[in-house]
Amino acid sequence: MEVIKRVGEMQEVSLNLKRLEKSIGLVPTMGCLHRGHLSLIEAARRENDIVIMSNFVNPLQFGPKEDLATYPRDPDRDNRLAESAGVNYVFAPSSGEMYPEKYNTYVEVEGPMVEKMCGKSRPGHFSGVTTVVLKLFLITQPDRAYFGQKDAQQAIIVRKMVTDLNVPIKIVTCPIVRDADGLALSSRNIYLSPKERKQALALPKALSAGKDMILKGETDPQSVRQLIIEVLESSPGIRIDYVEVVNGDNLEELQTIKGKVLLAAAIYVGKTRLIDNIDLEV
Ligand code: AMP
Repeated sequence: MEVIKRVGEMQEVSLNLKRLEKSIGLVPTMGCLHRGHLSLIEAARRENDIVIMSNFVNPLQFGPKEDLATYPRDPDRDNRLAESAGVNYVFAPSSGEMYPEKYNTYVEVEGPMVEKMCGKSRPGHFSGVTTVVLKLFLITQPDRAYFGQKDAQQAIIVRKMVTDLNVPIKIVTCPIVRDADGLALSSRNIYLSPKERKQALALPKALSAGKDMILKGETDPQSVRQLIIEVLESSPGIRIDYVEVVNGDNLEELQTIKGKVLLAAAIYVGKTRLIDNIDLEV
């Protein structure tokens, strides 16, 4: 495995691989790898000759009051895990390498898709995501790029960008990997104290309750949303950011529960913001 820090070098390596007709799978990450990331690498390995994992904590997608400075970083551990998972190249640029002085180009998907849920709580976040993702696509030249369903809104917005801009890359969404107790794996889980870690379980529990209600025949999205809110409100130590029951393909409002449905929520446990979702076909 090779670790590449320079944009120019990564792009040259990728273009050479394309000339050799190698297929490339890209797994974009912000490091601090866990089994969720490893599941994306595994999928990329199955479907491509070469796997490139980017490891870049993208300052553009953090708000001024967010955790950019304290976001967990452990590049040596990440490189060891990436190598044993079968990654061929880690692309780990500095911020200055990605956004040199006077950098001034941004990619923005517009409309309700980016204005609700995480986009509402984190203004500018998705513009930061789409900008870095398109840059990573152009630098690493992948045939396929792998994203986690954990960040469902992100995956939907990246798909929209790729469709709208005719980017010839297949977006693959991989299922959420959870701990044994149901908590979705996240690099931010390491912020949680043991007590908060237990309190955080209200999030998967509330979403599961919503899913059960649908499986029992409920067709009113607002009733499902209300149940999820009630379960969260009756759980100690947490604060709701948002709860949504929406169309799982495009995040649009649902009149009735039918087709692809996404139950999504974000909560604060202490200072830590956690997101989770369940998607199902009804
Ligand atoms: P991050 O490093 O948090 O930016 O995540 C990098 C990629 O891994 C994103 O596509 C995430 O959606 C995905 N990911 C993060 N956590 C999980 C998880 N628990 N299960 C599956 N994918 C995940």
